[in-house]
Amino acid sequence: MASLPPQFLARLRHICGERFVLVNEQELATYRSDGLLHYREVPAAAVLPATAEEVREVVRACFAERVPWVARGAGTGLSGGALPVADGVLIALSRMRRILEIDLENGRVVVEPGVTNLAISKAVAPTHFYPPDPSSQIVCSIGGNIAENSGGAHCFKYGFTTNYVTGLEVVLSDGTVVELRRDDPGYDLLGAFVGSEGTLGVATRITLRVVPAPETVRTLVAFFTDTGAAGDAVSAIVDAGILPGAIEMMDSLSIEAAEQATGAGYRRDAGAALLIELDGPQERCLTGFEELVALCGEAGALDIRIAQSDEERELIWRTRKAAFASMGRIAPGYYVQDGVIPRTRLAEVLREIDALAGEYDMRVANVFHAGDGNLHPLVCYDSSQEGEAERAEELSGLIMKACVDAGGSITGEHGVGVDKKSYMPSMFSEKDLEAFQRLRCAFDPHGLANPGKVMPTPRLCGEVPGPYREHPLERAGVAERF
Ligand SMILES: Cc1cc2nc3c(=O)[nH]c(=O)nc-3n(C[C@H](O)[C@H](O)[C@H](O)COP(=O)(O)OP(=O)(O)OC[C@H]3O[C@@H](n4cnc5c(N)ncnc54)[C@H](O)[C@@H]3O)c2cc1C
Repeated sequence: MASLPPQFLARLRHICGERFVLVNEQELATYRSDGLLHYREVPAAAVLPATAEEVREVVRACFAERVPWVARGAGTGLSGGALPVADGVLIALSRMRRILEIDLENGRVVVEPGVTNLAISKAVAPTHFYPPDPSSQIVCSIGGNIAENSGGAHCFKYGFTTNYVTGLEVVLSDGTVVELRRDDPGYDLLGAFVGSEGTLGVATRITLRVVPAPETVRTLVAFFTDTGAAGDAVSAIVDAGILPGAIEMMDSLSIEAAEQATGAGYRRDAGAALLIELDGPQERCLTGFEELVALCGEAGALDIRIAQSDEERELIWRTRKAAFASMGRIAPGYYVQDGVIPRTRLAEVLREIDALAGEYDMRVANVFHAGDGNLHPLVCYDSSQEGEAERAEELSGLIMKACVDAGGSITGEHGVGVDKKSYMPSMFSEKDLEAFQRLRCAFDPHGLANPGKVMPTPRLCGEVPGPYREHPLERAGVAERF
């Protein structure tokens, strides 16, 4: 395990308090990985600042010593974004959980980065809600959501995190504090920050838009013989001009796993389930819902279950949201993938995934945000079988390739992190990557913020102005971590 100079650690303790600077390997174990457990690294230290000022001082201290750092929210990320660097500091924002301001008249809340996604909706209920709702919303932090531009079941109708962030206070890697606002004239730097995976700075204060809660919500789950038929139903619904609040698909394997976890009564003999929710003004919602039921029937639904109470709706949703976590019930290990395809090519890409799974003799479960064409193939494996984890990784890569070949993307909402950086050249030319790099260097010329993530190969920032070029650690290669 790497260690940091004693005077540097003393400075961190002075800033955050003795208790909130961890250097002991046992205490650091919690921070070794995010939700993607395949990548592990113990940081040299972890700090748990309580305020934006403490974050700023920690970042300044790191800058003075050219120590790299990684921001961490709740550590639920699925691309290794919050993976620590061995000789760096992990800045865990979990103590910064204050809701600073609620201004419902203007549909606005101001929060600290460690506030959980769900806490925001709870704070503005019952009149308002915060739409982007990752399945991890009980625990994931809003800071992590911003860094990943997270999505969720309701993003088909309501949009992603980026559509709700209106202001950010950001600590840059030299400790400068900047305010980014959506309405400011000039380049959309706030837009650049959202989805930047902690590589441009740490968000310490976040202003969000919240929206009025819909008058009515109606939810159903329809069961089909296979994902193709369910996909046809999705197309028919969208073509009919219905805009569901959510339209989620689960295949038979994910139904089996989630049903074992929740016992909600999803049909285990079905090849696919579509969870559809309509929300809005009561009358429009009721008419739309009738049309929805009819369209599912025409597409060959085996059965349609309509939630009759809030409790039943909650149970139906809990089953969908349990899909990832419950995979452990049917497989000792699994890779979560996150690809995007044009919705119209759903059936074709699913067939290809099935064929690939057959070739590799492995099981792949599928959970989708069907409206957005955002697939989550879950590649099951058993690491006790020699070479199986590696084959699962290889199969995951081929599934991503199939998504890109179909005109889609290597990630819909989980980000690139370390896991997908090698796939970046399949989507972007060297010139595109250079443009990304120039943007990154404009925010963090020394490569101290979350090095080793997103960009596929080590890169330098070119001309770095001022005395920093002369710094010994830089000569030792810190700036080459990109
Ligand atoms: C069971 C499960 C279900 C999930 N479902 C969804 C889903 O439906 N939709 C979805 O989009 N994602 C989903 N995820 C992925 C994950 O929850 C999201 O990516 C989430 O936004 C990560 O938040 P976090 O607080 O855990 O961030 P972390 O994992 O701690 O960090 C993620 C990234 O954000 C950076 N970061 C964290 N805080 C800050 C900050 N304040 N400033 C700058 N950078 C920061 C980190 O450096 C890292 O790069 C799921 C994960 C799990 C485990």
